[in-house]
Amino acid sequence: MKQWPEAISDGLLLPCGECGVVPQFDYMVDHPTWKRVAPKEHRLSVICLPCFDRLAVDAGVTHNYLVSVQFVGTGRTWVLQPTKMYVWSDYSFLVQDRREPE
Ligand SMILES: [Zn+2]
Repeated sequence: MKQWPEAISDGLLLPCGECGVVPQFDYMVDHPTWKRVAPKEHRLSVICLPCFDRLAVDAGVTHNYLVSVQFVGTGRTWVLQPTKMYVWSDYSFLVQDRREPE
């Protein structure tokens, strides 16, 4: 291949800068949330989705920031788009449809 294809994530080759695990799924979040949450030292590298989610909670992010999740199979890639985010605690839960951050 002469050019890296859009549908194959380079993020699946490198370990997460936070936990060191090579992610099995890539993902996209809205840009303002990425800038707010991703540590500066890892913005140009890989942060796996579980680590990004933990960092987002630590940063106080409450909106549904996830744009898509990519699964790369054998010669094919699926782009999954979340429709809802459930937020739960011991006593209640909340459902948010996808929307842009405030
Ligand atoms: Zn990680």
